[in-house]
Amino acid sequence: MIVIQGQQQPTPPALEAAERDVLTHTNGSSVWWCGRGSAALLLGLRLLAEANREGEVILPTICCPSLAYTVRLARLTPRFADVDPGTGLMTLAAAQERRTENTVAVVFIHLYGQTADLCGLADWCRTEGVALIEDAAHALGGQLASGAAVGSVGDLTVYSFSRSKILECGGGALLIRCPEQARAAEEIISRSACPAELDAPAAGQLARSQRNFQHAMVALCRLGQQEGVSEAVERLGGTYDRLYWKSMDDASAVAAGWKTLSHMLQRRLSKAQQYASLLRSGPWRILDGWQQSGVCWRVTLSVDPGVNPVSLSEAVRQDGFHVSNLYWCMNDLFRPQDRCPNGEAFACRVVNLWVDDTVDADWIRNCCSSLLRHARRVPEAVSMVGAC
Ligand SMILES: *Cc1c(COP(=O)(O)O)cnc(C)c1O
Repeated sequence: MIVIQGQQQPTPPALEAAERDVLTHTNGSSVWWCGRGSAALLLGLRLLAEANREGEVILPTICCPSLAYTVRLARLTPRFADVDPGTGLMTLAAAQERRTENTVAVVFIHLYGQTADLCGLADWCRTEGVALIEDAAHALGGQLASGAAVGSVGDLTVYSFSRSKILECGGGALLIRCPEQARAAEEIISRSACPAELDAPAAGQLARSQRNFQHAMVALCRLGQQEGVSEAVERLGGTYDRLYWKSMDDASAVAAGWKTLSHMLQRRLSKAQQYASLLRSGPWRILDGWQQSGVCWRVTLSVDPGVNPVSLSEAVRQDGFHVSNLYWCMNDLFRPQDRCPNGEAFACRVVNLWVDDTVDADWIRNCCSSLLRHARRVPEAVSMVGAC
């Protein structure tokens, strides 16, 4: 099915092949094509929110803020679980620690294309009667440690094809595993209205405002000035709600993008290999979960203590190479009392490097030289100054 302006329609012929692929690899029962990953998550959460007025959703603290905003938009409460300090992936023990009688779902993010064996988490969720949602935004087409496809374990799986994800053709999708839930989705969509969507210029302007707001809040947290941040997010977050109700603009672009997926994954992996061999000797650890999963979102460096990733990124950017460190602990923004010490230790060391089609082998070689040069030029340029 495809959701257009809040109404469901049969899957357009252009997307039938992609839909068959998803269903075959994941053994799911239905796919709901949406305008972005968050719109897909919102649909999934509405299924759970119906019967659970005060429901809570456990998110890994290292997460895209749109997940937390979407949970609130669905009138549920985001709770934040700590992560493995080495990978940033949520652990079963941390999810268990956040479990309350109100928990209705746990979201597992395959962060940066790293995947994990989800058996333990899935078993626990089943025992507890809690839905397991896989977030495949960074791991489209990837494999779990067991060899099964990303998306083959969760009750629901969220896909995103937005800018800066694996495919950038626009759009998102929700995979529903069980047929009863698929029928419930039909029911919910058919009897509820959604707000009118913004036109493209207004949506673009609002999205830029949200990005700037987000970066401003994270920058304060990085400086250790969390005071007032979660209150600001609480007050202003809802301003951006309309961005999450979005229909797919162009189904044929998604269909065309889908056909390029295996080549895209190959290109990304070979770039990741290039970084890994050039950066072997720097003051960092390279997270190489992509070797096993077969999908690399961005190459992630976890810099050694004593190197400030913000100063390092800034120095490399001034050389003309974009690198990012956007992910932060979302409990700081949405619920400071959900303490996540491992997430803090992880977030303040991450530098992400590009592997998409905007970069080629020369670019990567030069970017790596820049990184190595600045990382060795400690202490003043890259030492820890007020970070973490
Ligand atoms: C971008 C992203 C999303 C949301 O996808 P949109 O298409 O931007 O709504 C969800 N989860 C993760 C991990 C993401 O990076």
